[in-house]
Amino acid sequence: MTDTYARTTTSAWRNWAGTVTARPARTESPASVDELVDVLRRANEDGLKVKPVGTGHSFTATAATDGVLIRPDLLTGIRDIDRTTMTVTVEAGTPLKRLNTALAREGLSLTNMGDIMEQTIAGATSTGTHGTGRDSASISAQIRALELVTADGTVLVCSEQENPEVFAAARVGLGALGVITAVTLAVEPVFLLTAREEPMTFDRVTGDFDQLVAENEHFEFYWFPHTGNCNTKRNNRSAGPAAPPSRVSSWIDDELLSNGIFQVACSVGRAIPPAIPSIAKLSSRALSARTYTDIPYKVFTSPRRVKFVEMEYAVPREQAVAALRELKAMVERSPLKISFPVEVRTAPADDMALSTASGRDSAYIAVHLYKGTPHRSYFTAVERIMTAHSGRPHWGKIHTRDAAYLAEVYPRFGEFTAVRDRLDPDRMFGNDYLRRVLGD
Ligand SMILES: Cc1cc2nc3c(=O)[nH]c(=O)nc-3n(C[C@H](O)[C@H](O)[C@H](O)COP(=O)(O)OP(=O)(O)OC[C@H]3O[C@@H](n4cnc5c(N)ncnc54)[C@H](O)[C@@H]3O)c2cc1C
Repeated sequence: MTDTYARTTTSAWRNWAGTVTARPARTESPASVDELVDVLRRANEDGLKVKPVGTGHSFTATAATDGVLIRPDLLTGIRDIDRTTMTVTVEAGTPLKRLNTALAREGLSLTNMGDIMEQTIAGATSTGTHGTGRDSASISAQIRALELVTADGTVLVCSEQENPEVFAAARVGLGALGVITAVTLAVEPVFLLTAREEPMTFDRVTGDFDQLVAENEHFEFYWFPHTGNCNTKRNNRSAGPAAPPSRVSSWIDDELLSNGIFQVACSVGRAIPPAIPSIAKLSSRALSARTYTDIPYKVFTSPRRVKFVEMEYAVPREQAVAALRELKAMVERSPLKISFPVEVRTAPADDMALSTASGRDSAYIAVHLYKGTPHRSYFTAVERIMTAHSGRPHWGKIHTRDAAYLAEVYPRFGEFTAVRDRLDPDRMFGNDYLRRVLGD
């Protein structure tokens, strides 16, 4: 054993939401591809399964293992920026936060991203993390090449030209195909986005949904259960000048309202559920319109300090409004008291086998509950509605679907499992979650 393995530990692992705990036989933090290959070889010798983990922001047990847990902490940083191809290659464990700030310093940016930037690039893309977009899709769709180490220790590079069948599978690879060590992403010169946040009624948003999606590069909205109120957000490219929210206004909106007061409201709601509808009416009426212009990551992402659990389904875009109306009617006729807004986003069809938007224009409907609130009855009722619309669950968010269901809603499911059979025939990267969703 070399001194490299001073970085081997055996502590327990928990995800961000605190809903999944794992006790790996050991935890390794390789600092190079060679060290990683050695970690896999030793796991093989010891008959242990292997699971690379990001920052544990998945709500599902997708990253859990009782074998060797591979932490990304020493596989971070930018490897290369190529201004001819307009791509950046980063180590797989690089947090999105570090990627976004480093790109901005270089005058570059990703085209689209999700709500937060705590995750690692490999972790985020392995479950298909997305934001909202009319023309631009998930972070995985912005990948141009991947380097991954497979079960037999091969370092495999894939792109549209090289190993294209692996590329189609591994951009949303669920950690099932190997350990990603580097990700090459398309970038563009940094640009400005103008965000327009505006309260709107549920009836207006759902009535005008197609138009709102068509007229904006990035449209999303939140509906407040027990009310007819929504908050909408339209992000569109702008010629500038930059006009970020003032420090005070951003503190009030992003920290005080979205985190501080929201945390108190959620705690009160959890202790006294009958108070939730009144709190929802009050807080949704307190929303006001605001407009600001800034670089992409400052507009797309914001801190999320209130802990929650989440389920999110992608439904065919044309069925989104029907599914949402059913969800609203279900909440209204049930005794459920829901303190968290429902988030609605969109994505264009993409070409990755297990992307939630694979082959179809999609709308995402996400439901959340404050951490510690029993979620089963709400999530079961929502899941019943979403699956009736051929919904595809986010791979990193709570759901109960199995391989039989998923094979029906993903026409390219067999293509993914064939790549997996070839790259990981002995299921070195298997765990209980993958057994459920992929069938073995
Ligand atoms: C507060 C919060 C906000 C969120 N916002 C959004 C959002 O806006 N949009 C959205 O779509 N999702 C969102 N999510 C979900 C989140 O983006 C995904 O669950 C994402 O996968 C988490 O990334 P991670 O780095 O924490 O990876 P983990 O959760 O640690 O791991 C996820 C998967 O990636 C695999 N993996 C990790 N590293 C590697 C590697 N090197 N090689 C191969 N496989 C690897 C793991 O094995 C696992 O299967 C949010 C989650 C939270 C908690």
